[in-house]
Amino acid sequence: MDLQAPVQYVKGVGPQRAESLSKVGVHTAEDLLLHLPMRYEDRRSFARVADLVPGMRVSVSGEIAVAGLRRARRLTIYEVRLDDGSGRLKAIFFNQPYLKETLGRGKKVVFYGLVERDAMASRLLVMRSPQYEIVEKDEHGGIHTGRLVPVYEKLGTLTVKPLRRVLAHLAEQVPPGLEDPLPPDLRARLSVIGRGEALRRVHLPGDTDRLELLNAFRSPGHVRLILEELLLFQLGLARRRSGVRAERKRAAFEVKDAAREAVKRILPFPLTGAQRRVVREIADDLRSPHPMNRLVQGDVGSGKTLVALLSMVVVIENGWQSALMAPTEILAEQHFLTLRRLLKRCPYRVELLTSAVKGREREAALARISSGEAQVVVGTHALIQEGVVFHRLGLAVADEQHRFGVLQREELRKKGYDADVLVMTATPIPRTLALTAYGDLDVSIVDEKPPGRTTIRTELRSASERREVVSLVRRAVAEGRQAYVVYPLVEESEKLEDVKAATEASEEWSAALPGVHVGLLHGRMKSAEKEEAMGAFARGEVQVLVSTTVVEVGVDVPNATVMVIEHAERFGLAQLHQLRGRVGRGAAPSTCVLLAYGRLSEVARARLDVMVSTEDGFAIAETDLELRGPGDFFGTRQWGMPTLRVAHLIRDRDLLERARTEAFRLVGDGAELPPSLARFLEQGGWERRFGLARVG
Ligand code: ADP
Ligand code: MG
Repeated sequence: MDLQAPVQYVKGVGPQRAESLSKVGVHTAEDLLLHLPMRYEDRRSFARVADLVPGMRVSVSGEIAVAGLRRARRLTIYEVRLDDGSGRLKAIFFNQPYLKETLGRGKKVVFYGLVERDAMASRLLVMRSPQYEIVEKDEHGGIHTGRLVPVYEKLGTLTVKPLRRVLAHLAEQVPPGLEDPLPPDLRARLSVIGRGEALRRVHLPGDTDRLELLNAFRSPGHVRLILEELLLFQLGLARRRSGVRAERKRAAFEVKDAAREAVKRILPFPLTGAQRRVVREIADDLRSPHPMNRLVQGDVGSGKTLVALLSMVVVIENGWQSALMAPTEILAEQHFLTLRRLLKRCPYRVELLTSAVKGREREAALARISSGEAQVVVGTHALIQEGVVFHRLGLAVADEQHRFGVLQREELRKKGYDADVLVMTATPIPRTLALTAYGDLDVSIVDEKPPGRTTIRTELRSASERREVVSLVRRAVAEGRQAYVVYPLVEESEKLEDVKAATEASEEWSAALPGVHVGLLHGRMKSAEKEEAMGAFARGEVQVLVSTTVVEVGVDVPNATVMVIEHAERFGLAQLHQLRGRVGRGAAPSTCVLLAYGRLSEVARARLDVMVSTEDGFAIAETDLELRGPGDFFGTRQWGMPTLRVAHLIRDRDLLERARTEAFRLVGDGAELPPSLARFLEQGGWERRFGLARVG
């Protein structure tokens, strides 16, 4: 049987159903087979009618002794009595008059359903609309009853019963010896069964399959299919990574004495242990003849900027340039100021290139970048996208960009740079996701905060307690501290009404806090205005900054000790955590107030409770992943997250680890991959299979 045959030709499908299936991404027989049951029911043993009590969910087998169709108001009711020799069970079906033909008197049938007391005659037991099956000859049961029965989620226009029928037939035709991408020795090492057997057994579980394992997605068939998918995916990642490792960059950098000297001059404080470790990991990459491709993860405030800076110094001292790219212009400007301050005792030229740099000034900056006079260039992604010409770009650092991965590295290469790439993110990424979305990067973790940080107290408040929140802000300001008040407007979609709301909010806060300077920052402001608003807050001229989420990432004002998040129920966990990270950056105790309005949904409540109970970004990320599911974790599906059909990143963590180890072992050995696996990785098959094919 050809698993790649169009699904239309699968028995029971046909052109119409095939069309509805193609809309949900099912094009071939194999696609259909990979639609696994969502659960299984044990309908193996038949209960005796005489033993039934209300509440049981059972299969009964017998003969239709009485049957009749009647009408009640607008309903038609088909009513039968099933006789199994021990007693008679009533069953009723609504609005299915055609059952008169299929479930007529004398038919041998199996019913599966819930046993209830009859509304009409309370001594009588009844099943309402049970699953039924006509028993041919003498066999007991069939597809829908009398066995471990798979229950499917609807697929296209195919509902559970037709789907079960189609898949039962299809699975029956899968030969046990079906071609298998996993060669026998690999299967033996993983202790998994063959592909053909697995595809059959998940749809047609046999006597050896156990209900609990099936329902936990851990039956031998499940384990085999899930491991296969994860292994193939990890194999592609392993291969990509080894590809990068095999490249040679134009210059391997040395860690020179001059760099050590510069670092001593720069450091305003001793590095934390974690910073030191990560800097060492990066230095090893810089020294290596192969390009660096590293992700640095560290919670907000863990001091990633300094780590990036020290890496840049090493590169500069080798006579190469470094670029630092931020997601927004505000952040780029802030980085520029920070770097200039830290580098003031070093002879390096730091260049800022944003859209605000225009005209002649811009030309001059571009000239300094292309001549190599500018050693550090700070900007947004436009730096690589818009063809800024570097003299010799040695290191590209992408800050707060968990999306910046291999793709951008290739973009750099197309522009003729083989720079080392460092990606920094404060979004804690649960390990399962990190292994999947960033499986081709090396990862360093800054898991320690600089000393002297106090914990942030987080309070959940309702709208009725707003007054107390206002006075909390007033007290902080009276003590010389500053506060953020954040409103839930998404930058991209900020409409005029939203801006109006933010403006009004700032006026309200201003009125509630006489004598206090209240500033406003939102995404619709021109970048010069934003810079002015941020600058005034950073200098302490403005004490309360009312803002949309533009302050979310990276902003660093240590004197700010209060963060009020309005409509906290509307924010995602990752975003709440980022926002909270704007305070607690100095030595003074800080508070984060989550101001929630209205009745909270269960999920919103769970999110806010997690925020109150922990400051640990990784714990928060894990919860987030569980509340939202992997597809939504990053907000929108984006490059890097594969389309998985049978595996589930949360449920299958354990199998993911096994798959990863095995995949990296297979590729790492340097030995030839088994031909079936090598073929799969060739010609874009891997990208297509996991939906990672590149557009354009
Ligand atoms: P993030 O990892 O969120 O980007 P930053 O690099 O902005 O963190 O650092 C947060 C704050 O911690 C900054 O004010 C920075 O100057 C300070 N900092 C960084 N490293 C140290 C250190 N080793 N000791 C003390 N303070 C540090
Ligand atoms: Mg930062």
